[in-house]
Amino acid sequence: MNDARATAVLTVEGVRKAFGDTVVLDGIDFEVAPGEVVALIGPSGSGKSTLLRCLNLLEQVDDGRVLLAGDDITDPRVDVDAVRARFGVVFQQYNLFPHLSVLDNVTLALRTVHRVSRVEAERRGLELLGRIGLADHARRHPDGLSGGQQQRAAIVRALAIEPQVLLLDEITSALDPELVGEVLDLVRELAHTTTIVMATHELAFARDVATTLLFLDGGVIVERGGPEMLDAPREERTRAFLSRFR
Ligand code: ADP
Ligand code: MG
Repeated sequence: MNDARATAVLTVEGVRKAFGDTVVLDGIDFEVAPGEVVALIGPSGSGKSTLLRCLNLLEQVDDGRVLLAGDDITDPRVDVDAVRARFGVVFQQYNLFPHLSVLDNVTLALRTVHRVSRVEAERRGLELLGRIGLADHARRHPDGLSGGQQQRAAIVRALAIEPQVLLLDEITSALDPELVGEVLDLVRELAHTTTIVMATHELAFARDVATTLLFLDGGVIVERGGPEMLDAPREERTRAFLSRFR
């Protein structure tokens, strides 16, 4: 095992995924170091969501492997629930269970997966909600919160179990524009202390927060680099993609 692999939180090696005849991921390789924030960018249909879903085993890879802190989580003998408990995941929408209070949403995994007592789980849940200014909303149901508040609650729910990696899939794209900022601000704050892999079309945000950007197109990583990639892309396909945002 080389040094980079030994210290990586996540190692993705030659991942391939097809749906029927459609090859969606065609040999994806990258590594994520502890504390790194990786932004997946690329056109709709380029495989960003599928890649995130392969990481937390919502999809099975056809080929290649994914190592989480050195453990091969794509090994067919792996305990899928145990692996999923090591990731925090937030999607575009419908993240919170509508029939549970905000606090129960935040504490559910703590209590069921991690067997934390109700009292202790609620203490931690209220502290997390307090940090995002939502302690007063803890007993409400999600539909009593704005979309931005719901996504922020979904993020702290994902963090409650202290995951090794936070996976975020276009978490602001279903929000009204005026609610996007508060959600991005929370991610910005978390980015200092959390390892994150996020699909996003918020390029200005990615430039600020991401340590590494991966530009996906046609199931491959066409270009990778630091935030400067957004200003000076090397590849024609990256340039064409970015020009649509100007
Ligand atoms: P992105 O998130 O970059 O928009 P996706 O990963 O959602 O891309 O989709 C990549 C491609 O895979 C698309 O062509 C999409 O239609 C296809 N796809 C995704 N999920 C499925 C599925 N469950 N069955 C069939 N095709 C799928
Ligand atoms: Mg997607």
